[in-house]
Amino acid sequence: MKIIGLTGGIGSGKSTLLAWFRSNGIPCFESDIVGKQLLNGQLKQDVIDYFGPELYPNDALDTKRMAQLVFQDKEALEKLNNLVHPAVGKAFKDFVEKNKNAQIVVKEAAILFETGAYKSCDFVILVYAPLEKRISRVIQRDGVKRAEVLARMSKQWDDNKKSALADFVIENDSLELAIEQLEAILKKLLA
Ligand code: ADP
Repeated sequence: MKIIGLTGGIGSGKSTLLAWFRSNGIPCFESDIVGKQLLNGQLKQDVIDYFGPELYPNDALDTKRMAQLVFQDKEALEKLNNLVHPAVGKAFKDFVEKNKNAQIVVKEAAILFETGAYKSCDFVILVYAPLEKRISRVIQRDGVKRAEVLARMSKQWDDNKKSALADFVIENDSLELAIEQLEAILKKLLA
């Protein structure tokens, strides 16, 4: 089995391209979504013990409040990462075990390089889109202000740093062309 890491900055088009893999029958693991599920499940009590119950109004994690909290507090961010990253790593191991007969699986993560998780992938695909396109796509997708998108981007590595570590870079300007690039990469990997 080959593990393909799929990464890219916010708004680059990771989820969109992941949907293409999924529609082609390739097992996909979405790290951010699994992380959120864990925070609402097995990690919930640990988070409440450390951060307090106000992060779970109506019994569900308020992701906006959590993001604000860790944005201003480095120690809180470290604590959260120390809870979430190992648990996501374990969930990914279980996912690989469950799909052990698959020829390839995809692990999608926004901060695959930043966390070092890329080291456990056989290949990494970086999704790239021009900054202004990413900003306007996220404003439209999430209904947020430009400043908030820029703040989220400031926590991620820039594309130059990431492309130096990636095996493939896909330009996601036109979706049609991005999918053509994906098909070519997959053909190479499966050859
Ligand atoms: P990410 O998962 O990297 O944050 P998404 O896949 O959610 O990014 O894409 C961000 C937004 O841009 C989504 O609303 C998506 O539908 C849109 N989008 C993605 N790729 C393209 C494209 N090539 N052209 C136009 N819109 C796109």
